[in-house]
Amino acid sequence: MNSITEVPVAIVGAGPYGLSVAAHLRALSVPARIMGVPMGSWRARMPVGMFLKSTPRASSIADPERRFGLNDFRAARNQPRVGDRYAVPLDEFVRYGEWYQQRCVPGVERAAVIRVEGAPNGFRLHLDTGEAFTARAVVMASGFPSYARVPVDLQPLVAAGLASHTSDHADLAKFAGQRVAVIGAGQSALESATLMYEAGAEPVLVARAERLQFGEPPDSDRPGDRTWPARIAHPGSPLGPGWSFVAFTRAPAAFRYLPDRTRAELVRTVLGPSGAWWLRERALGRFPLLTGHRVASAEEVDGRVRLRLRGTTDTLEVDQVLAATGYRVDVERLEMLDPGLGGG
Ligand SMILES: Cc1cc2nc3c(=O)[nH]c(=O)nc-3n(C[C@H](O)[C@H](O)[C@H](O)COP(=O)(O)OP(=O)(O)OC[C@H]3O[C@@H](n4cnc5c(N)ncnc54)[C@H](O)[C@@H]3O)c2cc1C
Repeated sequence: MNSITEVPVAIVGAGPYGLSVAAHLRALSVPARIMGVPMGSWRARMPVGMFLKSTPRASSIADPERRFGLNDFRAARNQPRVGDRYAVPLDEFVRYGEWYQQRCVPGVERAAVIRVEGAPNGFRLHLDTGEAFTARAVVMASGFPSYARVPVDLQPLVAAGLASHTSDHADLAKFAGQRVAVIGAGQSALESATLMYEAGAEPVLVARAERLQFGEPPDSDRPGDRTWPARIAHPGSPLGPGWSFVAFTRAPAAFRYLPDRTRAELVRTVLGPSGAWWLRERALGRFPLLTGHRVASAEEVDGRVRLRLRGTTDTLEVDQVLAATGYRVDVERLEMLDPGLGGG
């Protein structure tokens, strides 16, 4: 148990953001406590065999000295530097995050925060170890799992054990031999269906989109190696080539000064659902893709699932449904937050 009962800052979560905040506070000599399993979501909530969609340049965890990037991790292992055409495997990213944590944030406490409530001089945090302490400020870096979104029509199937969300699985091989409807059109849907197919399952992708989108392969490992006309038309950025991506990565602070409608439109249209360029060959032509289809209703029939669809196919019978339907941020869903703070 940590003996510090009052700290300036407490950080809830030890994923990439929590770790990075902790490293920056440490460099500023601001005492902080950080709780969570390092890279916990990446170990328990992402499927074995997955690759990151972000390029290596966009997958480094920020550190104040700029000495602990993904390529620094590789160099420490005598592995060559990698560029934009390298797809980072999940297990490499998890090991990189743990390496970063050991060097930059050695004091992570492997405890869960079960309650955060207001206190006269800040906040009172309760841990699952039974300890409670006070922090003047709390950084919530508890990540995406709390925000997993399953469409209302599928929720009764979840309760019956016939449907689940992608974030429920660390290994999709458990679906081998089963016919599974995968709902969605983004990277998560396309990669989950592909991993299932490769593990011996029979996925059927159901997507509202008329056409599936995939990224274009980068034409070089380093943006600086591209021709000048290509660089002017589509300048390089860690998110891929394109002026909008440059604006997001170079001037993120300016984004919040845009009118609400413009921001909402940009969020909706820039980086919409799409598969990574390296997934196209592994996904297309391997399993049925019911694009232009919506789930109208879903019911259990003799221990299986019957989906009624709107599209050219009317019904689909499957053993399981996998909702690759993403996340919706809603602070009310952070159960550890006292209702007085805006949580549930
Ligand atoms: C399938 C998938 C693929 C993705 N691929 C990419 C990618 O290629 N590139 C990219 O940049 N981003 C990717 N993302 C987005 C990615 O989740 C974020 O970039 C990143 O993980 C966010 O980091 P984080 O620290 O905010 O949260 P997380 O990584 O979710 O970390 C949250 C941490 O908080 C801990 N925690 C939660 N609740 C508590 C509690 N009550 N007490 C203590 N600890 C707690 C968890 O154990 C975990 O360690 C992907 C997301 C998904 C779902």
